[in-house]
Amino acid sequence: MVAIGTPGSSSATRVMLLGSGELGKEVAIELQRLGCEVIAVDRYAHAPAMQVAHKAHVINMLDEQSLYELIRSESPDLVVPEIEAIATEALLSVESEGTHVVPTARAANLTMNRRGIRELVASDLGIRTSPYRFVESLEELQAAVAAVGLPCVVKPVMSSSGKGQSTIKQESDVQTAWNYALEGTRGGADSLIVEGFVDFDYEITLLTIRHAGGVSFCDPIGHRQESGDYRESWQPQPMGDAVLAECQSIATRVSDALGGFGLFGMEFFVQSDVVYFSEVSPRPHDTGLVTLISQNLSEFQLHVRAILGLPIPSIEQYGPSASCPVLVRGDSNAVEFSDVDQALSEPHTDIRLFGKPEVRGSRRMGVIVTRRETVEKARAAAVRLAGLVQVGPSDDVSRL
Ligand code: AMP
Repeated sequence: MVAIGTPGSSSATRVMLLGSGELGKEVAIELQRLGCEVIAVDRYAHAPAMQVAHKAHVINMLDEQSLYELIRSESPDLVVPEIEAIATEALLSVESEGTHVVPTARAANLTMNRRGIRELVASDLGIRTSPYRFVESLEELQAAVAAVGLPCVVKPVMSSSGKGQSTIKQESDVQTAWNYALEGTRGGADSLIVEGFVDFDYEITLLTIRHAGGVSFCDPIGHRQESGDYRESWQPQPMGDAVLAECQSIATRVSDALGGFGLFGMEFFVQSDVVYFSEVSPRPHDTGLVTLISQNLSEFQLHVRAILGLPIPSIEQYGPSASCPVLVRGDSNAVEFSDVDQALSEPHTDIRLFGKPEVRGSRRMGVIVTRRETVEKARAAAVRLAGLVQVGPSDDVSRL
């Protein structure tokens, strides 16, 4: 039996979101719809999920003591990590003291660092990944490049959104890749992963949900990345039944190994029907924003149902769909979006503007989602309509 209380009362079902960006905002909205009390946490004020939460806290979530103390003082029923950059040791501590961490503290801990998840998947489970080495010095990087072969991809073990990631095509790129990776690493760790470059035909995110009734999958989501950040996603990615079945089987094994209930974004590369596991986020995935229009239950609703122990009897796909982010470049605390009416002038089209309080450099500030007769039409429409959104009011900001 699942019971949900009344927000603000002694019976409240209190959920603490660690990370309050655009994905956390959609999770918060779904939790609100079910009458949960939402406590949003991030490193800055007025983050998107905070704008739709009952309560908000601004802390450095990479600081183990601050995070531990905040969770202890709020004492939520559920702690839901929405980003990787969290002192996951604090999650291990509170879980050992009886707090429910989604999906498990171990899953958050293993996936916040590329080393943990890579060793679990490749060494322990024996699943195919790109060849890889971990390095901590320039000399080790040189040796690893020789072992893995060219071209190869260098990434900080702790980073996201492509920060510090580069491809080494020739030996003379090694020093530049080393410097760039150290600039992009999160939390000061100087450990890098060197991965053999997989010349894949396509890459997918397979949204995999572990819930009270078993394991469910959404149709595979194809995506296109630039500089390690997603520029387009679409669903379904056309692929053969056998390849999809293999991805589903790997996703089941990896999610079983991580445990708990929730939605997992499993990332795969497919090259001539050979499947390579790439990585997993034990939470909604940015490429999964397309599910806001493609399914009866979005990835956010699915995550919330799973973590609350609610059933997921079926996931209906509505038809070929796509998403395209609205990227903004510049320096502003007051971005204004215009021509939103133009962007929404076609049927089966929707937009989310995340309400991010500022942009410094470049930032994903919104997303267009479309549903059309074919994936090609949905992709073309999403890119075209996202391109219609203008930003202002001054020249301090422009579209990327
Ligand atoms: P990641 O942050 O590991 O998800 O990497 C971001 C993107 O970079 C992926 O979605 C791929 O498009 C690309 N990428 C990462 N690793 C590799 C690899 N070993 N071979 C080819 N492309 C890669």
